[in-house]
Amino acid sequence: MRMYDILHKKREGGELSTEEISWLVRAVTEGSVPDYQISALLMAIYFKGMTPDETVDLTWEMARSGDMADLSPIPGVKVDKHSTGGVGDKTSLIVGPIAAARGVKIAKMSGRGLGHTGGTVDKLESIPGLHMDVPRERFYEIVNKTGIALVGQSGSLCPADKKLYALRDVTNTVDSLPLIAASIMSKKLAAGADAILLDVKLGSGAFMKTLPEAVELAELMVDTGNRAERRTAAMITDMDMPLGRCIGNALEVREAVEILRGDGDSRLTELSLELAAGMITLAGLAPDNSSALAKARETVASGSAFKTLCDMVSAQGGDASCLEDTSKLPLSPWELTVSAPESGYITALDAETCGLAAMELGAGRENKDDEIDYGAGIVLLANKGAAVESGQPIAKLYAQSEAQCAQAKERFLCAITIEKERPDVQPLIIKRIGI
Ligand code: URA
Repeated sequence: MRMYDILHKKREGGELSTEEISWLVRAVTEGSVPDYQISALLMAIYFKGMTPDETVDLTWEMARSGDMADLSPIPGVKVDKHSTGGVGDKTSLIVGPIAAARGVKIAKMSGRGLGHTGGTVDKLESIPGLHMDVPRERFYEIVNKTGIALVGQSGSLCPADKKLYALRDVTNTVDSLPLIAASIMSKKLAAGADAILLDVKLGSGAFMKTLPEAVELAELMVDTGNRAERRTAAMITDMDMPLGRCIGNALEVREAVEILRGDGDSRLTELSLELAAGMITLAGLAPDNSSALAKARETVASGSAFKTLCDMVSAQGGDASCLEDTSKLPLSPWELTVSAPESGYITALDAETCGLAAMELGAGRENKDDEIDYGAGIVLLANKGAAVESGQPIAKLYAQSEAQCAQAKERFLCAITIEKERPDVQPLIIKRIGI
């Protein structure tokens, strides 16, 4: 087979065969085709697309390009959840313990944050002592004992995706729907769960900015997952404003604890319960979504979801007393209060800009090897839709220095629009697919 012929076929809008895709992914993984030919192919795919069969083939081949997790030593239905990325999205820390407390097995591998979106690994690593690099046998043991382990992705998961993603990033071909679907779903297949719930974010802080695009991506990923014999469903959820009140690693752990104690932001609580209910339903542990939702609520009310998180943190070496008393979690020393520049309603609080402000405070990385400050970030005192008076505190910023706070404040103020008319706030769950 020759790369030149594969390139020609895709440039003309043809459908690549299973053998061609298999050859291609092997060549990408081994490094036997030059980056300029792979980049040209990515651009051809960007313009000509891929059929559902090609997308499934690419997904499987990328999944098989590295380690495939074997979760068979964990009895029960293993359910994974994936969010396409957002600002202030700490739902993995919340829904995992809720679903696990109802008998769903959560053996989840997560990633680090990059750019304006945070990653579950960084959030959990803000808990003193907690390890994300858990050896395989111990990983099984923790899930079998506590129902849940949240660990870092192994370096050898989907190497073909790593290579292709790096080239997509520099050739401006990231936002091709089949390439996004194959990239996300290959990692989910390699991670080994029996069922997958996708939280596809829509809005200013998300990859997908319009509903038709978000629906197309969600349907493509659900179809890809189901064709790969994993029970897959999706919810399209709002990311036009940050999720919850906190952005930044340790601050988000605090907020996750508040929700698990039944005392947190109402939108974040609602989304967390809905996602947990979706996982319980996918695991076949409730006859329908409304009884799954009641079960999810009950684990929060009884404290069993919070206890499950504490058990998991202890099992992974973390100091669970920091969850009992969240003032023990890191908090950066400089605090700056941001006040409303005028009176009215907050009609926009741009999630991406808030994420970039949090990055300036030290909560995120610009480059993958950058150090992050676990105690940095933003606590929102008002979100989209709130009525505010001029001079009223609307956010607190935390960083290591006054200069970082001052710079991030300028950016944060750009995220906010205040107008006289009360805005409509989008429903949180915009569409459900397969659930
Ligand atoms: N997340 C991924 O893992 N891959 C993409 O292509 C986009 C988002």
